[in-house]
Amino acid sequence: MPFSTLGLSNEIVRAVTERGYTKPTPIQMQAIPIVLSGGDLLAGAQTGTGKTAGFTLPLLHRLSSIHSVKNVSSGFPPIRALILTPTRELAAQVEESVHDYGKYLKLKSMVMYGGVSIKPQKQRLKDRVDILVATPGRLLDHVGQGTVNLSRIEVLVLDEADRMLDMGFIHDIRRILSLLPKKRQNLLFFATFSDKLKTLATGLLNHPTTIEVARSNVTASTVAQKIYQVDRDRKRQLLAHLIRQHKWFQVLVFTRTKHGADRLVKQLAEDRIQALAIHGNKSQPARTQALAKFKNGNLQVMVATDIAARGLDISELPHVVNFDLPNVPEDYVHRIGRTGRAGAEGEAVSLVCVDEYHLLADIEKVIQQELPKEVVAGFEPNPDIKPEAIKNGRKPKGDKGKTRAIDKPSLQASPKPSPIRTPVDGKPRITHRSASGERRSSKTSKS
Ligand code: AMP
Repeated sequence: MPFSTLGLSNEIVRAVTERGYTKPTPIQMQAIPIVLSGGDLLAGAQTGTGKTAGFTLPLLHRLSSIHSVKNVSSGFPPIRALILTPTRELAAQVEESVHDYGKYLKLKSMVMYGGVSIKPQKQRLKDRVDILVATPGRLLDHVGQGTVNLSRIEVLVLDEADRMLDMGFIHDIRRILSLLPKKRQNLLFFATFSDKLKTLATGLLNHPTTIEVARSNVTASTVAQKIYQVDRDRKRQLLAHLIRQHKWFQVLVFTRTKHGADRLVKQLAEDRIQALAIHGNKSQPARTQALAKFKNGNLQVMVATDIAARGLDISELPHVVNFDLPNVPEDYVHRIGRTGRAGAEGEAVSLVCVDEYHLLADIEKVIQQELPKEVVAGFEPNPDIKPEAIKNGRKPKGDKGKTRAIDKPSLQASPKPSPIRTPVDGKPRITHRSASGERRSSKTSKS
């Protein structure tokens, strides 16, 4: 089914065609007619499914076909659609999509987030903004200063609403909701459903249509997943070895803690591998700059914590490495969702030490799949090493060692595990063979 049959205007179909999309993805096929009809929507979809276009395209269509009420009051002109996202990077990415898909329309969009000067944002808000993409905290700063007009919002989108709740944004969201007109369309997107989300959705949505793209789509068959078993103190050497041996370029590496991310960047530099970290303690300009370099193919390795990398859309990302396994199994799915997207091939490698076997077993339950395990020659794990508790950035009692800072939401996130259909045994099975077979290294095109 081509895009032209969905009822979107020619200008929008032209923009997506130029972007190279030939047909809508499943979430787009389901979401677009509902949003066009003006109804509320509750949609379960991960990043990588095409969800952004799923809400952006019909939103653009509706705003451009319904004329806005003239602004009679003086002061800041009213905004017509508000898209809230949990992270700055996701906000920037969504606004880029809005801008791109709407390039043949007369609508104006703006992105707003914290960590950068508020002044230029205030200046921009004096002119017309039809679609505002924002993170909750900075939006409320503007509300406090009276520099944003939310009194005429026609459509509200909560993107990655579950993650916003995990990040503790519920009060901010409720405050923002209280400022919006009662009559409006609401679209709520989530990756993992929870009781908290149910409460939010019940209070927010008016007779919504619920749609869900199956979780199994996420660990797409285009992603080759592999576990390398290795001792905890040799992970860094193994990572450097893999990067060099396979000539990997554009590698996104996940660590559990911010401190771990910084340390790994330093260690890779000693191995002459160029890397930058993005996490919650980095300034926004540093995060933006690292991401831009990485997206443009000018940075070999980007090391990230789950929160910082959440929702990043880097097309055709060839390699994702879990330097540490995530505590929350669903985060594994989000992480590897960065690769092999929209039909491109990708590789997701996890370096797993004896401390993490139970995490691996949880992940395999959630993805209902046993992952292939290998040992790289020269990096055989020492069977005498005993598992140690993972500290997760909190200093355990009696531990005089340094506290590692973790990006907060990972600690709070405790989604319910998915139903287990295939029983898997807890212990990983190991195949002894060396890592071989070089994969292509590809340049990205920024989406
Ligand atoms: P999202 O899930 O919104 O983060 O989108 C994931 C990726 O899929 C982005 O790189 C989009 O540009 C791409 N994409 C979205 N819709 C389509 C489509 N209909 N055909 C091909 N690629 C798409």
